[in-house]
Amino acid sequence: MHLPPSLRARRSPSIGPPSSLIVPAKGTNQMVERFPARVLGRVGIWGALLFGVFFLATAPTCSDAEGPASRRVVVFSGHTESLTCLGGNRGAKSASGRDEYRFNDEVVRLFETSKSPGIEFIVLPASLNLPLESRAELADRLGACLLVEIHQDNVQPEKVAQLLKAPEKSPLLDFYRGFSLHVLGGEDSFELAQAIESAMIAAGLPYSTFHREEIPGEAMKLVPGTRAIYERPNLMLLKRARVPAVIIECGCIANPKEEQLLQDPAYRQRIATAIQRGIAAYLSRP
Ligand SMILES: [Zn+2]
Repeated sequence: MHLPPSLRARRSPSIGPPSSLIVPAKGTNQMVERFPARVLGRVGIWGALLFGVFFLATAPTCSDAEGPASRRVVVFSGHTESLTCLGGNRGAKSASGRDEYRFNDEVVRLFETSKSPGIEFIVLPASLNLPLESRAELADRLGACLLVEIHQDNVQPEKVAQLLKAPEKSPLLDFYRGFSLHVLGGEDSFELAQAIESAMIAAGLPYSTFHREEIPGEAMKLVPGTRAIYERPNLMLLKRARVPAVIIECGCIANPKEEQLLQDPAYRQRIATAIQRGIAAYLSRP
């Protein structure tokens, strides 16, 4: 497939010094918890920094493709639970008035029990209230070889009321739905998005086309040859990421029909499993 020139440029990796006191819990596919204050009190700031350096030195990377070494993938939940933290934002509102971050957390938690061999998922839920500005750097410090961030989609404000009023068989409900993937630059990010797109389509999940609509707020640039991968030049996480990065919109919660689906644990599991398969396919490419 022809790769657009804008996606050919690769970012040079660089890892900054540890400045956050967040560490992965023991074992694989674990939630990350804040470094307890009482522990910090005992080891002091230098102990914490030393731990961070040791952790980075032993962190696996994508280059561990040969052998059983684990490859570490950071899975962020989009937005924050708190509205008062730095950059606090609960995301979109669903048709029933539920906050987006709750849907995002329900999907990311399914990565904790992933059985993908050789892949360690580090799950960062919205309840950690991580500022958007520091997420890319945090992924670096956690030794991630790639990152994904999970979101749920929304529609333009004038469409919200139309969707809420739409009768059950309205074509609107079949149009404003489905998943989409968002990338910026880097052949690796594009290949990761492609692998996830293929796995989600293979799982029978519908992909959205409404971001292509020529209306204000949409008219996004579809990556040629793909069905639901968009090039997004202005998303901070993608701009700052130093490893392959993809933002995944799982479905459109402004659509009452799709919101219902996304509230179904079996449907969410289908989504999470498909994303995990896509990541595994990307990491096992020759
Ligand atoms: Zn979102």
